[in-house]
Amino acid sequence: DMNNNLKDRVSIVTGASRGIGRSIAEAMASLGAKVVVNFSKDEVGAQQTVDNIISKGGLATLFQADVSVLSEAQELIDYALDKYDGIDILVNNAGTTRDQLIVRMSEDDWDLVLKVNLKSTFNCCKAVMKPMMRKRYGRIINISSVSGIAGNAGQTNYSASKSGMIGFSKSLAREAAARNITVNVVAPGFIPTTLTNDLSEEMKQMTLANIPIGRWGEPHEVADAVIFFARDVSGYVTGQVINVDGGMVMF
Ligand code: NAD
Repeated sequence: DMNNNLKDRVSIVTGASRGIGRSIAEAMASLGAKVVVNFSKDEVGAQQTVDNIISKGGLATLFQADVSVLSEAQELIDYALDKYDGIDILVNNAGTTRDQLIVRMSEDDWDLVLKVNLKSTFNCCKAVMKPMMRKRYGRIINISSVSGIAGNAGQTNYSASKSGMIGFSKSLAREAAARNITVNVVAPGFIPTTLTNDLSEEMKQMTLANIPIGRWGEPHEVADAVIFFARDVSGYVTGQVINVDGGMVMF
């Protein structure tokens, strides 16, 4: 039966100890989903996400895993399967930056960002695919970036990883469609979080000048687009990208 909320759906959100991931986890729980809050290092933050959800009457648990390591991603999926009996929704949100012009970018900067952003997405999708195929139901939402669509100086590694997530999602969408599993992408623009802390004031003002809506975005605005793809009723939408960027990039 179709419902327009997320009642009883089991959802995993990677990197949900703060920022956009926390907001997605909270939004999903508020619509009735049982949420597994994944974190890699910040247990206090992840516990805060869980506490926020429970204090509003929602259901959530936390699970530590560095999702850039396949065996740990598998443990995360196994935990959710064991705890809740099935997985309906996976949000690949965990991500990081190591911004640098290419001449100054180290091999480690490149490898780390590709591993954390792109390989994590592969890892979690690979681990979740069989359970979703068995259930003949699934909603996978990958968090990319406008940087992966339009490019951004100083972010060759990040842009490559985020644009890689889009190509990956389109191929997986084709593989999974017949099993009632959709794979879609949300591409945020500039959302002030810990991730954007390091940007210079000059860079922030330059970015703002390119946003038609004239302000930065908020995590809950990204979460709302994720919710669209996560609902039962969006089952005819797959392989798509929604930008949540105040009109910064139009295509
Ligand atoms: P954030 O740094 O606050 O959150 C990222 C989260 O991912 C953190 O909780 C971090 O601990 C977690 N994480 C990192 N590596 C991990 C790993 N290996 N395993 C598990 N968790 C891991 O930043 P955010 O802005 O909330 O970013 C969330 C997502 O949104 C990222 O994928 C980011 O690239 C994307 N994004 C953000 C913006 C923005 O402007 N903030 C714009 C476009 C895209």
